[in-house]
Amino acid sequence: MNKRTIFITGGASGIGLGMAETLVKQGHHVIVADINESAAQEAAAVLASKFGSINDGSASAVAVDVCDAAQIAALPEALGKLTVDVLINNAGIQHVSNLEDFPADKWQQLINIMLVGPALTIQALLPAMKAQNFGRIINVGSIHSLVASPFKSAYVAAKHGLLGLAKTVALETGDYDITINTLCPAYVKTPLVEQQIEAQAKENNMTEDEVVKKIMLEPMPKKQFIEVQELADTAAFLMTNSAKNITGQAITLDGGWTAR
Ligand code: NAD
Repeated sequence: MNKRTIFITGGASGIGLGMAETLVKQGHHVIVADINESAAQEAAAVLASKFGSINDGSASAVAVDVCDAAQIAALPEALGKLTVDVLINNAGIQHVSNLEDFPADKWQQLINIMLVGPALTIQALLPAMKAQNFGRIINVGSIHSLVASPFKSAYVAAKHGLLGLAKTVALETGDYDITINTLCPAYVKTPLVEQQIEAQAKENNMTEDEVVKKIMLEPMPKKQFIEVQELADTAAFLMTNSAKNITGQAITLDGGWTAR
């Protein structure tokens, strides 16, 4: 196995942190990049001390706001000798509201974090990937890259946009051993979803249990949350040579949601 340097935005929590754990265990170096500096540092320290010895994996932390264009542009310099082989665009937030009441600045923030941020991060890290003729870009999209749900206009728009961004970058990187794909999971039990259960309960006048059963799991024939491990293992596969011709794709882990 080649030891890769993997840059995970939003790596201090939920899906990003779970992916980081698997990838450190496999022997890679993970850079936990998060707006929450103390959480990123703590995550990197725990990852290195708990899992670093398994396969000689390692972790470091960097404080990053993916919406801050200047900070993102300066990343290659800030990372010094580290060249990023694998970029996982994962940072994200949610806001649940009907469109009429959706605050304009919140709408803009969601688009900035989950669409403009990934574009800027790719822009910053792609030249080094091209120079070494290797790169894997993995976007954490969502089932909401493919279908909509009410009260999530900004999120759905950003996640749909991510697929367009990935297709374009796939066309622009065809001459290199670089791929870009978007994971599209249905609901994963993370802090982001825990908050949403509460918000959806208020918005829909339901109990939290009803939100889980009637909104989140109802559209999925398999009726179960997607596990972070499933996403981590899919990302690990996309990093391999066997996945070198998978590019520009939406990789859907939705328990059959979109089979209807
Ligand atoms: P989470 O809230 O547990 O983690 C998100 C992380 O992103 C946090 O550590 C947060 O500090 C960081 N972050 C937020 N804004 C940032 C910014 N501007 N710059 C850098 N970091 C920032 O959420 P999660 O559920 O693990 O979500 C991760 C990704 O997975 C998101 O893109 C989300 O849309 C996507 N997703 C989640 C689910 C789900 O059910 N949890 C389903 C589909 C897709």
